[in-house]
Amino acid sequence: MFCIKCGKDLPEGAVFCPFCGQKQSAPAETPAAAAPASEGADYAQPINRSPIKKARYNILCIIGLVIGAIALLFSYIPYTLFAVLSILAGIAAVIVAAIGVVRCNRTNENGRIHGVLGIVFGAMAIIFVIIDIL
Ligand SMILES: [Zn+2]
Repeated sequence: MFCIKCGKDLPEGAVFCPFCGQKQSAPAETPAAAAPASEGADYAQPINRSPIKKARYNILCIIGLVIGAIALLFSYIPYTLFAVLSILAGIAAVIVAAIGVVRCNRTNENGRIHGVLGIVFGAMAIIFVIIDIL
């Protein structure tokens, strides 16, 4: 064989040319043989890694929604006791649901829509009672 750079005669299978130091291009066996194995491994991993993560549900959002719904229900009952309970429940619903929504935004948990509904229900209950009083 001959050096790929200077063309001098080299011993068969020489890796480097003893005259100019040029590395001789290796017979393409090693990279070609290694490729299929690693390629198969690369294909298998992303499939196994596909996100099966079960998103958690934020409990505060649903609690806020339930309290908000109760507050809204109470706001329709024409007794002072229920008006007071409705305002208290409405305030509690807004606070609890707001905390739930903030947590959802921070941790990417589910339930944000229920928390927003809880805030709306709670606020509506407070507004309805205030309108009744006025
Ligand atoms: Zn050479």
